[in-house]
Amino acid sequence: MIEDKNQEQTKISDLGEFGLIDHLTKSFNIKQKSTIKGVGDDAAVLDFKDKKIVLTTDLLIEGVHFDLSYVPLKHLGYKAVMVNLSDVYAMNASATQITVSIALSNRFPLEAIEELYAGIELAARNYDVDIVGGDTTSSNKGLIISISAIGEVMREDVVYRSGAKANDLLVVTGDLGGAYMGLKVLEREKEVFKVDPNNQPELDPYTYIIERQLKPEARKDIVKLLKNLDVKPTSMIDISDGLSSEIIHLCKQSKVGCDLYEDKIPLDPQVISTCEEFKIDSTMIALSGGEDYELLMTVTQDDYPKIKGNPNLTVIGHMTTEDAGMHLVTRDNAKIALKAQGWNSLSDPE
Ligand code: ADP
Ligand code: MG
Repeated sequence: MIEDKNQEQTKISDLGEFGLIDHLTKSFNIKQKSTIKGVGDDAAVLDFKDKKIVLTTDLLIEGVHFDLSYVPLKHLGYKAVMVNLSDVYAMNASATQITVSIALSNRFPLEAIEELYAGIELAARNYDVDIVGGDTTSSNKGLIISISAIGEVMREDVVYRSGAKANDLLVVTGDLGGAYMGLKVLEREKEVFKVDPNNQPELDPYTYIIERQLKPEARKDIVKLLKNLDVKPTSMIDISDGLSSEIIHLCKQSKVGCDLYEDKIPLDPQVISTCEEFKIDSTMIALSGGEDYELLMTVTQDDYPKIKGNPNLTVIGHMTTEDAGMHLVTRDNAKIALKAQGWNSLSDPE
């Protein structure tokens, strides 16, 4: 895909490591007050005054976490930032800085890395975070990207995974399953293209779910919304692995159980129609799909009037005592134990 481009390609070795770093970082500008020194010294210098700091990092490896045959590099850069910011927002914090480290094989010309950085910089701009450092090195094979994100939050506002109590409401933002079904469509088109490269894929009916896969948006707006509504969740986590696995994290770390209602799980019509087309159960996709980067939280019953009817927030169940266990209540009112991971995230009915 990269090799197919007609434009002139610049070998990275022509620039050298420092030339490349300079080229990639010269357009960065600093917006956060907490950034005293960004790129250009041995370390960045940050000043958060009386705020608490949250710090998170993610590593993405070509062939394991992404496939460049259908993921454009610009989208990859954007998504790599989103994955990290989502973790910061899941702490109820605001994201302020990121560092970006890359390892490249000689297969990548400068123009490819510029694309990657165009996505990274767009994400940083859209989400108001400064890029304050990183590292640049070579790899024997493929592309490796590691991004770390820093955020700030007042001590009393931090939300952990461990604070949920029995009877709290289980609330999710946005809708689920789109990113996974977008991936299914992209994988299918890749196979069709292999057989007949002249076949132009008809992707119009799938624009929303493909965008959910390729260009997810972290829920910065939710941290602000919760503040405006004067709601502090009792626990929170971001949905990177699928609803079922994230619910189990909240339950285990909070020592509670939960009842999740199948008919309450928010699904976009495009997810429903694509699931029908692929003959997959949409509940299963929401439970196990992953990569939606929505936020899952618990709030007290007292806060219900504040969130009621908000289009960004859907109540999908409630927490119970730990000994009651973790369950999905199906549309026909059967109770099924929630299982951690993978395709078959549900056990047999009890
Ligand atoms: P060092 O030798 O101390 O590791 P480098 O020469 O690797 O320093 O980096 C010089 C500066 O450029 C540092 O501020 C570093 O954080 C930044 N930097 C290096 N690589 C990247 C990158 N890929 N993206 C953003 N900043 C980078
Ligand atoms: Mg270095």
